[in-house]
Amino acid sequence: MADAAPAERLKAVATRIPAGAPGAGQFTCIPHDDAWLARHKAKRAASNAVWNQRARNACLNHYGRVCACCGETDMRFLTLDHVNGDGNAQRKTHTSLNLVQVLVKQVRETGIWPNDLQTLCYNCNMAKRTGPVCPHKRPVPDEPDAIVLFTIEEVLELCHG
Ligand SMILES: [Zn+2]
Ligand SMILES: [Zn+2]
Repeated sequence: MADAAPAERLKAVATRIPAGAPGAGQFTCIPHDDAWLARHKAKRAASNAVWNQRARNACLNHYGRVCACCGETDMRFLTLDHVNGDGNAQRKTHTSLNLVQVLVKQVRETGIWPNDLQTLCYNCNMAKRTGPVCPHKRPVPDEPDAIVLFTIEEVLELCHG
């Protein structure tokens, strides 16, 4: 191979970068074996985790580090919520991205933070799915009779009758 052109010599030792790695399909002399791919994936996961953490921090700095409903301030419980409950429509248009990722991308492009978002804790966020507002904000029935308890026999009768 001493008289081969440099490009030919390179081809002889190079391998194709496998799918899923940066530059996939191109030739490289760095071995992109399973161990390399595993290291690359771990590195990427770690940097994604750092990015996600920073993005979440930026969002909570903007919308507040306190649940707008119950006042929870523990960061581990805090999440972003669509004030008007239109999160499903948003999720359908950005299937693979979570709200924080979509939001940070959007703010980078437009410089505008949407005003239809708020900080809620997971409890209040989940509870909102059972109605337009969190149970914290719904009137509590003061008459114990307002809650009707059925026996199992009555339930079966209701179902079959
Ligand atoms: Zn809350
Ligand atoms: Zn609440």
